[in-house]
Amino acid sequence: RKDEAPKRSLWQRFKDVAFTDVSVLFKGVDEGSLETLETLLIESDFGVTTSLALVADVEFRAKRGEVKTEAEFRGALAQGIEAALRKGNADPTLLRATTGPTVVLVIGVNGAGKTTFIGKLSAQFKKEGKKVLLGAADTFRAGAIDQLRVWAERAGVDFVGGAPGSDPASVAFDAVDAGMTRGADIVIVDTAGRLHTSDDLMTELRKIHRVIMKRLPDAPHEVLLVLDGTIGQNALSQARTFSAAVPVTGIVVTKLDGTAKGGIVVAVHEALNVPIKFVGLGEQIGDLEPFDAGDYAKELVE
Ligand code: GDP
Repeated sequence: RKDEAPKRSLWQRFKDVAFTDVSVLFKGVDEGSLETLETLLIESDFGVTTSLALVADVEFRAKRGEVKTEAEFRGALAQGIEAALRKGNADPTLLRATTGPTVVLVIGVNGAGKTTFIGKLSAQFKKEGKKVLLGAADTFRAGAIDQLRVWAERAGVDFVGGAPGSDPASVAFDAVDAGMTRGADIVIVDTAGRLHTSDDLMTELRKIHRVIMKRLPDAPHEVLLVLDGTIGQNALSQARTFSAAVPVTGIVVTKLDGTAKGGIVVAVHEALNVPIKFVGLGEQIGDLEPFDAGDYAKELVE
């Protein structure tokens, strides 16, 4: 049996450090509590700039007399986080094709949770009565094709995979082609998360993207980048590398069930100006949630 420490929200951790004596009532916003909040936000992967902006926002509201109680402090923080998540390009709705299949290209490093995400997304579409086809274009890693096939079977959806070592772009082409001829609503293409070098991988992803467009000119409709939510600032550098190679249209942050931090979601959205579209909250097929900025901000300060 695995004994897991209960996940503590940002607010619970703030209280731990800000109110040393729990019987002490909230006295208002002072410099000390703002400093504590700033440190905590930085430790929770929000990044320095965003952390400073969030603290400044709470301070500003306090000066206007809007933050007199603990609940108001908490509310002010949640509002600031939600506003950051809604800024710029922030619509979490999955982009869909007007005609023909919607093609979703899924990218990210090995271990981020790409395959699991694809399985969960397939099951969700299947439940909505959609015809789904998975394309296994990670022909580099031994086992990747089989792993995706297992998820396809579990979700009860169609599958197209090449032989190990075959050209990933041609697998992607075949998957889109099969989706078109078989009348699929959604084609989801898995890609490699590691090649000999990062440059090789980015070149391959660009090629896959180009070849998909060749078969279906307005595809891929979505390029979803899957990031592990527990690796902090490394997720940011991955996000920058991938989005420099292909036009990322949405972010998926996985493993948020395993961290009490969660600020990386805000940091990545702000760095890329790309919407967060899903968060992963577990290893099971049902553990996927469409992203909601308001809910997410509230959960952080629960
Ligand atoms: P891929 O290499 O990117 O395809 O990654 P996988 O989908 O194989 O996932 C890597 C590991 O992370 C597996 O053990 C998954 O069960 C686990 N995983 C994926 N998503 C989540 C999640 O949202 N929460 C948790 N706790 N684990 C996850």
